[in-house]
Amino acid sequence: MDRELRSLAESARGFMPPEEGLALYEAALDALEAVPGAPVVEIGTYCGKSTVYLGAAAKDAGGVVVTIDHHRGSEENQAGWEHHDEDLVDTDLGVMETLGEYRRTIHAAGLEGVVNAVVGDSPTVAGWWSTPAAMVFIDGGHGEEPASTDYRCWAPVVAPGGVLAIHDVFPDPADGGRPPYERIYLPAVESGAFTEHRAVGSLRILRRL
Ligand code: SAH
Ligand code: MG
Repeated sequence: MDRELRSLAESARGFMPPEEGLALYEAALDALEAVPGAPVVEIGTYCGKSTVYLGAAAKDAGGVVVTIDHHRGSEENQAGWEHHDEDLVDTDLGVMETLGEYRRTIHAAGLEGVVNAVVGDSPTVAGWWSTPAAMVFIDGGHGEEPASTDYRCWAPVVAPGGVLAIHDVFPDPADGGRPPYERIYLPAVESGAFTEHRAVGSLRILRRL
């Protein structure tokens, strides 16, 4: 991966360790090669940190990324929760606002021509989405309901031969919240439609048969 983009991604705000980001980049490259011409779809943009890894792959492979977020934060990003960042509150409205920071990240990365942001609610966007994806990366809401809904809405979008990537998968409850593991990873593997290709930290890379 381009060294400048790598250091930019590493310094961007967000929750993606460098080795998981690199694995995400590699998975996106593989997916774009396996399913040429199809987009890479990300659920959960936040400030665009993971988006830079996906965008770098799309740039190298000549593809595009669509990244979806309402930019109001997940439950765990709200004031008083573990992953709250005070700098990302719209003080006039008193709500989380990550779209501006995302725009700055993607501009600095020179990826505005490659990455397309959809500002909206994930299941609502899924309701009108009909394009098979080379890769779907699910990193949106981590509660039981949002995780189940994202699995139900987005796993079917992955094209045969494409990739389903899931973040924050913690089989051991001592390591973190369980919904991405129980509501996305397990059902995907148990469906028989996906096989595990790689695991790096809490990132799981599955391939659609
Ligand atoms: N992928 C990012 C982190 C995403 S954090 C990174 O690695 O840098 C999770 C994001 O999911 C938050 O920005 C939150 O706003 C978004 N989100 C949660 N529920 C959502 C929903 N129903 N629709 C759209 N976005 C949602
Ligand atoms: Mg995450």
